[in-house]
Amino acid sequence: MPRIYLDHNATTPLDPRVLDAMLPYLQSEPGNPSSLHAEGRAARRAVEDAREHVAAMLGKDAREVVFTSGATEANNLALTGMVPAGGRLAVSAVEHPSVLACVELLESRGAHAVRLGVDRDGLVSDAELETALDEGVDVVAVMAANNEVGTLQPWVAIARQCHARGVALHVDAVQMPGKAPLAVPDFGEGTVSLSAHKIGGPKGVGALWVRTDTRVRAQIVGGGQERQRRAGTENVAAIVGMGAACRFVADEASARMSALRLSEEAFLAALRAHVPDVVRHGPRNADMRIPGTLNLRIPGVSGEPLLLGCDLEGLSLSLGSACSSGAVEPSHVLLAMGVNKVENLESFRVSLGWDTSPDALRAAAGIIADVASRNRRCP
Ligand code: PMP
Repeated sequence: MPRIYLDHNATTPLDPRVLDAMLPYLQSEPGNPSSLHAEGRAARRAVEDAREHVAAMLGKDAREVVFTSGATEANNLALTGMVPAGGRLAVSAVEHPSVLACVELLESRGAHAVRLGVDRDGLVSDAELETALDEGVDVVAVMAANNEVGTLQPWVAIARQCHARGVALHVDAVQMPGKAPLAVPDFGEGTVSLSAHKIGGPKGVGALWVRTDTRVRAQIVGGGQERQRRAGTENVAAIVGMGAACRFVADEASARMSALRLSEEAFLAALRAHVPDVVRHGPRNADMRIPGTLNLRIPGVSGEPLLLGCDLEGLSLSLGSACSSGAVEPSHVLLAMGVNKVENLESFRVSLGWDTSPDALRAAAGIIADVASRNRRCP
């Protein structure tokens, strides 16, 4: 039986069509996009075509897209680039570590940051956001969809709120493409981060959308690339891969979303048939979350032995956030949602791909049930 991979929020397999698009830039197209000769011009065209595809997915202008080495860099560029020296920012408590660690770095340099709490569903407190806006902040950072529990934030409404106060907004939209509509509204100053490897593209490339009138100071200097916002010779093949991945995800978004919804229901039904007491964290209402992200808990079964047992049986899952796997710390997202430490350490994440087959889903539910029954503590 082939292995079953259900950790798509950590990374997705490379789409073979994306690989095909990249191959010429790894094999036969040697140009540096900054060079003036034919090879250079071909590489420049490839990078600019990719930029068009990323921008089209967002419904935005290509000149506003900055390529980076991934969403970690895009998040760092947005925050360090927008928050002024000694500035103030408000950030949701459930952000990805690449945002939260960056906020700590800014605090160590004199910035003042407020963490916005969330409710049991993981939704940012509107009252706390309003208070922060009343007290005056330069930048707000709220992710569009959470990578651990799938909660969709009302980011379009938040963009409007920030715009009305003249406050810049950064949105980490890494988990959105192909899972929820991602047309970026016309908000005031602001940025949106993306990553290719979450949508069938290669690892090590991402993008930051920067609204035209937003001032983002470059963090990597030493070249004029990316309109002075990110120096360094462009990773042409990876950028081409990201462009292709965005094009496919935009073309196939509604089919992928419905496939994910159906798969999620089928998987949960199969798992509940074996393990009736399985608990799901996050919003109950399907409209308030992206499809395909299931943060689950089987009472009396620790997440780590469950994950390792499933791995031995050929099933790949994740504990909380994959970025912290290896270290079994309670998830900061579940803690912020009020999940206690014991329940937190029993939690595991199943993240489906839009093309995960029904057979794989049924087999995965059976493996989880078997491994859980072997590891369940007596009540
Ligand atoms: N933000 C979110 C919500 C993520 O899920 C991830 C990937 N775990 C990142 C940022 C970081 O992306 P990258 O791997 O491209 O640095």
